[in-house]
Amino acid sequence: MASETSLPRILMFDDSEVERIYVEALLKGEFAVETASDLIDFWAHMAGDPPDLILLDVMQKEISGFELCEQIKRNSEYAMIPIIFVTSLDSAQDIERGFDVGGHDYVTKPMMQRELKARMRSALRLKRLESELRMRSVTDYLTGAYNRRYFHEVITANLSYAQRMKRNLCIAMLDIDFFKKVNDKFGHEAGDAVLQHFTDTIKSQIRKYDILARYGGEEFVIQFFDCDIQKSLHFLERIYAALKANPCTVNMHTIEYTFSAGLSSLEEAQPENPIDKLIELADKRLYIAKNSGRNRVVSSS
Ligand code: GH3
Ligand code: MG
Ligand code: MG
Repeated sequence: MASETSLPRILMFDDSEVERIYVEALLKGEFAVETASDLIDFWAHMAGDPPDLILLDVMQKEISGFELCEQIKRNSEYAMIPIIFVTSLDSAQDIERGFDVGGHDYVTKPMMQRELKARMRSALRLKRLESELRMRSVTDYLTGAYNRRYFHEVITANLSYAQRMKRNLCIAMLDIDFFKKVNDKFGHEAGDAVLQHFTDTIKSQIRKYDILARYGGEEFVIQFFDCDIQKSLHFLERIYAALKANPCTVNMHTIEYTFSAGLSSLEEAQPENPIDKLIELADKRLYIAKNSGRNRVVSSS
């Protein structure tokens, strides 16, 4: 049997204790079930580590399951979690409402144990496929870094948040120096390996909530959230040090390479069109870094 930690995590919200105990016993072994008996309890579970799937009773004292489903779906962080209604309401109208408010499936009581489990497995399968598809659409195939489109999506959201909360944010444009020579000397595949190595090295030195995207060929962009120029410079220095300590090895060859970077901050790009301005500034500084000898960061101009 799989260990509890590897089982799909289910959150069941039902104000009836009898139902909670019954369903928990029913699902034990195949799913890791947590239960919530009231709204506070429910949102506390959601705020921790959100579940893989939610089982929702429709008729509850505090709120109708349909209304709660709409609330959950409005929150982008939870919108992807499938919700299955478990209810004794079985009119066509109720079932229709369940789907209209964003429910994934609808199971009527008294329920068949095997049917409920099969529907849950199907919902989880679909969720996995959806998130795989989503990952593919936002990442770059070769390096696994985010793609340029996703970078723009994220920075648009983060910039408005940073402006509202009066936080700073920096972006760094990075370009590998003399990358063409790597391809020419070691071959295109080795060039690809360097791009992967560069991605992994950067990821290992930035924070989890910083965003690394491949902007084009051998050009990358990092968004340092809630970070000023000084702190961003510190992260870039760490990347330089890591590349020096652990260069790329391909087919017994050690390929040492450097990069140039331009850094800009929201503070200096405000207030109009900050995204374009941020990118324009970083780009201009990257160009200066290239022309003043490469292997360096330029953070002012
Ligand atoms: P600089 O120091 O001025 O940046 O010089 P550079 O040689 O790094 O820059 P240039 O823009 O002249 O060349 C970039 C090269 O990157 C050209 C292109 O063939 C190569 N390239 C772009 N995408 C890929 C890729 O996915 N894989 C490999 N192996 N090479 C790529
Ligand atoms: Mg280059
Ligand atoms: Mg380039």
